[in-house]
Amino acid sequence: MDFLPFTRPSIDEDTIADVGNVLRSGWITSGPKVAAFEAALSDYFGGRPVRVVNSATGALEIALRLIDLRPGDEVITTPLTWVATTNVVINAGGKPVLVDIDPVTRNIDLDALEAAITSRTRAVIPVDLAGLPVDRDRLYAIAAKYNLRVIEDAAQSQGSTWQGRRIGSFGDLCSISFHANKNMTTTEGGALVMNNAEEARQFEKWRLQGVTRFPDGTMDVDLPGGKYNLTDVAAAIGLGQLKHIDAFNARRKVLAQRYFDLLDPALGLDLPPTSDESNWHMFQPLLPLDRLNISRPEFIARMKEHGIGIGVHYPVLHLFSYYRALGYKEGMYPHAERAGASTITLPLFPAMQDSDVDRVCAALQAVLLQALK
Ligand SMILES: *Cc1c(COP(=O)(O)O)cnc(C)c1O
Repeated sequence: MDFLPFTRPSIDEDTIADVGNVLRSGWITSGPKVAAFEAALSDYFGGRPVRVVNSATGALEIALRLIDLRPGDEVITTPLTWVATTNVVINAGGKPVLVDIDPVTRNIDLDALEAAITSRTRAVIPVDLAGLPVDRDRLYAIAAKYNLRVIEDAAQSQGSTWQGRRIGSFGDLCSISFHANKNMTTTEGGALVMNNAEEARQFEKWRLQGVTRFPDGTMDVDLPGGKYNLTDVAAAIGLGQLKHIDAFNARRKVLAQRYFDLLDPALGLDLPPTSDESNWHMFQPLLPLDRLNISRPEFIARMKEHGIGIGVHYPVLHLFSYYRALGYKEGMYPHAERAGASTITLPLFPAMQDSDVDRVCAALQAVLLQALK
């Protein structure tokens, strides 16, 4: 029986051929494919300016430059996210301020967010975990009331909507990831959706050594930019992927619905909320660990014996050693800690067959019924 990983990219032959075209063209780093990819992404995000980089982490780093984050500035976010979300704040000299999640959505608790605002708060970074969008109405009402910038970490939510409007097509800054595991990929890559042409111009400088090139062939450097540019090889993959993103997400939705239909409530799994607005980046039940006589690593090992790959996204970030050394400890964010300790990511990717979902459910049935106390 084939091993079923928890995710796998779908890259079509036209895309692979176009990568070959780029490699043969004589221009393989940032060039016409990047420009075409950015134009296509701008169309996708409602005409807003979009610039691409070599990771979403880089997009977040540049976003913090664009809002001119200063040492000691506070940025509020969630502990249940990929640690990139807070690492970038620390590397920019800011202070991440964590608040607990809403146990139902598993996204940042917006009441807790509002309560954590101080005179030092400059920005908030909402994360659409697993693709489920944070309540944008409430979020932007809070941001307006306290005059905060919003950097949406939409790494997982490309194609998700809030009340029918595509995430990234409205709001403040919005970061997207094209990492191999995301809903579309450039192998590695990311993008930032911005508000206006001036932000995009500043972004371009931060992206590549602070350089501005003038029509007469001269150049200047007026800020210490970094090296974040995406290659044309990667952009060619992105252009090929973007053609399929809506179909990919539609297929994910069908597969997620099949999980809801087939998972036996007797297994005691705490399922994610149903949603028509999620892009179903991940399908993540919580294990009923207090009712099981096996740990999560043992559960994962047993699923592997059934040929099923299980992911963990994520252990809460405040309990990693670097963050513990900053003073974070167990018990500070109980809802996030419970989710982080018991979450599992089931296989979900566009090329999966319906029968693959059935296989996962059958394996879950076998492993969990045997392990229930
Ligand atoms: C994947 C991810 C990132 C980082 O994306 P990269 O492109 O790997 O840098 C940041 N935040 C979240 C929530 C992610 O899932």
